[in-house]
Amino acid sequence: MEKRIIVAIDGHSSSGKSSMARQLAQKQNYLYIDSGAMYRAVALYCLRKGWIKGTLLDREALVEGLKDITISFSTTDKGLPRICLNGEEVENEIRGMEVSGVVSLVSAVPEVRSYLVDIQRSLAENKGVVMDGRDIGTAVFPEAELKIFLTASADVRAERRYLELKEKGMEASYEEILHNIEMRDRMDLNRTISPLRKADDAIELDNGRMSIEEQNAWLEARFNEAVYGKNRN
Ligand code: C5P
Repeated sequence: MEKRIIVAIDGHSSSGKSSMARQLAQKQNYLYIDSGAMYRAVALYCLRKGWIKGTLLDREALVEGLKDITISFSTTDKGLPRICLNGEEVENEIRGMEVSGVVSLVSAVPEVRSYLVDIQRSLAENKGVVMDGRDIGTAVFPEAELKIFLTASADVRAERRYLELKEKGMEASYEEILHNIEMRDRMDLNRTISPLRKADDAIELDNGRMSIEEQNAWLEARFNEAVYGKNRN
């Protein structure tokens, strides 16, 4: 049987990780897991509970309440993953600016991280997984056979996110998005636990000037090297 591997794709907010990861998973018939969606779902839960006021999070309530949070994924008819919070599909709600504005507060809480990392590891028990996030290659799967670290300038990422939200008919200004991306970069890079960092053995790709097709072709070549070895031809 063909070797099945774990692919870890990390990078800054809106660096295109999810599209790349999803398309590779689809092509290889692998499971795709969006770890950011899990942090976003926990943030949504906190907002609904009233545990976040401005930039203040009631950590104690969250740590106590974690046991009442169930995160799972359902799949659409087209095979696209949808995140569920306590059984309710919340895929669209977690993508809005309200959740984006507070998710980095929630993801900095160590108890939240260990809770979600356990779920992430259990989902990858049978390998054949592409997971994207911030700490997948460094903390969740340091043993992953293929690690990618994506970068692009904040301007390029904000532009992409703006077009993505506009396409979905969601409200947001470019300036607001850029500000949010820069804030999340800062918080994700500077938090004490599992900060965003390139794993030593990750392959870095600046995809700022690449089309989606070019990125996918590049990733497929790296995937084939990881599965079949560099000298296959
Ligand atoms: O990937 P996405 O931008 O949806 O992630 C939302 C937030 O979740 C990030 O800004 C980060 O704070 C957090 N996150 C994380 N670790 C991951 C994935 C996401 O801390 N593995």
